[in-house]
Amino acid sequence: MLHYQSSLQQDSFRHKGMRRSLVRQIAAKGIRDTAVLQAIENVPRHLFLEAVFLEQAYEDKAFPIGEGQTISQPYTVAYQTQLLQAQKGQKVLEVGTGSGYQAAVLAGLGVNVFSVEYNNVLFNRTKALLAQLRYPIHVFYGDGSRGLPAYAPFDRILVTAGAPAVPESLTEQLKPGGMLVIPVGNNKNQEMLRITRLADGELRQEKFDKFSFVPLLGHEGWK
Ligand code: SAM
Repeated sequence: MLHYQSSLQQDSFRHKGMRRSLVRQIAAKGIRDTAVLQAIENVPRHLFLEAVFLEQAYEDKAFPIGEGQTISQPYTVAYQTQLLQAQKGQKVLEVGTGSGYQAAVLAGLGVNVFSVEYNNVLFNRTKALLAQLRYPIHVFYGDGSRGLPAYAPFDRILVTAGAPAVPESLTEQLKPGGMLVIPVGNNKNQEMLRITRLADGELRQEKFDKFSFVPLLGHEGWK
């Protein structure tokens, strides 16, 4: 049984100070979007980690969250969020809820977050945590490589696991002008892609830096 610090729901001045220093590090690595930096500064990352990692919560590192999965490095969260260019009030789908940290950062931007998780243990734990922390995030259990057809279309889709190719279900669930940010590659490293659905329905693809994510599983992921 993992022990989560969130049961204490504490966010002290010390934590806030550590977050400010984390934000300075991320900004120094090239993240410029002030809304994204502010969201990282506001979300108490230590509440999304196992207590054993509490002292390291504000290091710019990924950590295990159980079930062979990870909470992404804060720089990676900021990088993907910056590329997403989500605007207040937009409908955003996250594929790979994991710890719930990225979803909380998105909620901090004032968007309406729908998040799907494929692992049942993580889904149950994180749904309860986000409710306990009072984040207004809609969390679903299922295969996010198929998107979330019942709630589509979305203004933005963010995939937080590495895909072998861009899932067609996801590009189909983008509104005109909508954007999908997704790491695509092999099981060791992936290139960050941003796909934009243009007004005429055509898709435009842009390529960014390389990262290393856990695999996107499911129908349009790794089998
Ligand atoms: N966004 C997460 C966070 O803030 O902690 C980090 C996500 S972790 C790097 C990737 C997550 O994607 C894992 O929790 C994994 O179970 C989930 N995942 C993998 N394939 C999936 C799929 N087809 N649908 C939904 N979630 C999936």
